[in-house]
Order: sequence, then structure tokens, then C-alpha cells
Amino acid sequence: MFGTGLLKGLGVTLKHALDTFEDDRDSVPDRYRGSLELGNNRRVIQQPIDQEGLLTIQYPEEKRLLPERFRYIPMLIWDSEKQEDRCTACGICAKVCPPQCIWIVRDSDENGKPMTRCSDFYIDAAVCMSCSFCVEFCPFDAIKMNHDYELAVYDRYPQLVYDMAELTVPLEYYAALWPTQYEEEQARRKEEEEQKRKQEEEKAAKAAARAAAKSAAAAEESAGAAPRRSAAELQALAKERAAQRQAQAADGGGSEDDAAAAKRARMEELKRRAQERARARKAESGE
Ligand code: SF4
Ligand code: SF4
Repeated sequence: MFGTGLLKGLGVTLKHALDTFEDDRDSVPDRYRGSLELGNNRRVIQQPIDQEGLLTIQYPEEKRLLPERFRYIPMLIWDSEKQEDRCTACGICAKVCPPQCIWIVRDSDENGKPMTRCSDFYIDAAVCMSCSFCVEFCPFDAIKMNHDYELAVYDRYPQLVYDMAELTVPLEYYAALWPTQYEEEQARRKEEEEQKRKQEEEKAAKAAARAAAKSAAAAEESAGAAPRRSAAELQALAKERAAQRQAQAADGGGSEDDAAAAKRARMEELKRRAQERARARKAESGE
């Protein structure tokens, strides 16, 4: 029937008006249930899903409690436990940023050698599209999405180009904004650290075992170079040699002279034969 939709819409509006009227008679209306009072009529409202009556809120005095996964402009994490920036200036976030609104300046030491930290880090908030790619790709959990959305300024440049000081927040701030994600990350980091510690222990144990095996092999080698006979055997051998020497001495000691005389005679004989052959060759040639 013509006008049914219009009547339905007006019905919904009427229902909300009546619910609000009824709700406002309570000491704490539905929309303020569980809200956080900030004073000066300011409050953060945790709007319940089953709220009846008025759904609008009186911004900016009243603000809605943002869901954890709300994201606006990135923030850089200062690790309060380690007292250092988590960012290592690897540049991955700047590479993956679709509108290219991240600019990183890597720090260097007094010799000009590049270091694993930033000297500055800029994000153009007017260009950032809150896609969170930089967060997804950062390997060091160094960049996260902030919930702060009230960034209005009179001049876009340079007010909306945030530098490192403006972007950096302590780890506790991030933990308060993203409690679930923070807990998951902490659990993962602990697990990774535990694994790393175990790997290092295993590596150290293997190195110690290798060193022990090497020294054992060296000891075995030096033991191999040493005489393999026992002390008793060596003693017996020494006795045997002493007995041999005594027996030679008992033979009269002239045997050595006899051998030398025989050798001399053999040499003389060879010399004589060589002279004879030389004479024969001379005779043949008729000289
Ligand atoms: S924020 Fe992360 S990805 Fe970006 S430079 Fe720092 S460490 Fe690398
Ligand atoms: S949120 Fe997206 S657009 Fe914004 S800085 Fe990160 S990657 Fe770039």
C-alpha cells in the first residue's frame, strides 16, 4: 500500500522518542550505563548494544568508547623495559605504505656508519589513509595504530607532518589502547625469547661437546706417540740388550777390527781388477 514504508519509519522514530522519554526518567539512563565520568560534563560512553531510546551522544563532551581495533594514525613504540625505541630504521613500513607518507632518517655513529635506529621519522597525517599496512609489515612491533582522532589544525603543513617526538608513545600507552593484542604479542615475544634461549643453550652445549671431543682426540694422539710397551716389558727389553752387549764383549772385542780388515781387502781386490781391465783396454787399442 502506498505510504506504508513512510509510516513504518515514523513508527521507529516514535518508538525511540517514547523509549528516550521513559529512559530519561531513570536516575542513570541506558546510554550512560557503564560510562566513564571525566568531570565537567565530559564522559566516555560505552554504548551497550541493547540500548533503548536516544542513540546519539553529545560530542565533544561525550565520546564513545572506541573498540580496540579502531585505528587512525600510526604511533611509534618506546620500549620502557629496554629504554629504547623499538624501531630499527629498517624502512619496511616506508616501502609498503601505499600513499608513501612515511619518511625515515637513519641514524649513524661518529664514523658515519649507519646504525639500527632512526634519527627522525615523519608521517604526513594528511596523506595517511589509516590502512595499517605499516603495522602489519613491521617485523619489530615498533609501529602501532593510535586511537587519537582529534587532529584538526588550522594549517596542514607542517602541523600534520608528525615527527618522531610527536609519534613516539611509551609501551604502556599502547598496552592500554590495545590490551588484547598487547597480551598476545607479549606471549609470542616470550615464547620466541624462550626458543632463542634454548637454541643458544643447545648451540653452547654442542660447541662444548665438540671441544671435549677434540681435546680427547688430541690426548689419544699424544698417547699413540708414546711407547705402547708396558713398564715391565721395557725393563725386560733393557735387560736383554744389556745381556747382548755383555756377550759381544765376551767374544773378545776383535770382531770389529776383522770386519774392517776384510772390507779393506775387498776394496784392494776391486782396485786390482779395475787396473787389469784398464791395461787390457790399452793393449787392445795399441797405444
Ligand atoms: S617502524 Fe618497523 S618497519 Fe618501520 S622502520 Fe621501524 S622497525 Fe622498520
Ligand atoms: S597506516 Fe597506511 S597510509 Fe598510514 S602510514 Fe601506515 S601504511 Fe602508510
